[in-house]
Amino acid sequence: MPIDPTLPYDDQNVFAKILRGEIPAKKVYEDDYAVAFHDIAPQAPHHILVIPTGAYVSWDDFSGNASDAEIAGFVRAVGAVARAAGVVEPGYRLLANIGVDAGQEVPHLHVHIFAGRPLGPMLAR
Ligand code: AMP
Repeated sequence: MPIDPTLPYDDQNVFAKILRGEIPAKKVYEDDYAVAFHDIAPQAPHHILVIPTGAYVSWDDFSGNASDAEIAGFVRAVGAVARAAGVVEPGYRLLANIGVDAGQEVPHLHVHIFAGRPLGPMLAR
């Protein structure tokens, strides 16, 4: 079920549990500001999720409330994860779902990195 991104942060969400080490994840990157791990249901040969370590529901929450250091750290981490995955050439797609119309399911900000095949049109028609 898509979540309401205006709700307060729920620290029982699945990515909060991954951050606390309560459930496993195939991590590929970790620093003070971000953690990246393989999506459990990959939709492309490379499908990695990058999340901030801070408790932010969505891009809206993060962009409005995170510190400059958190934002810079997260954005740099997304780039570093893509470079480390070797997908800068031939290319990759970033996607962040925010709220109901976008179908956001997990109420902790995450950016999807998709790569490894031609990714098709930008949006379903
Ligand atoms: P979204 O629809 O943008 O909220 O995407 C949520 C993503 O989280 C989906 O692609 C799920 O496959 C993925 N996901 C859910 N639970 C886990 C988990 N435990 N480990 C890794 N990825 C997960």
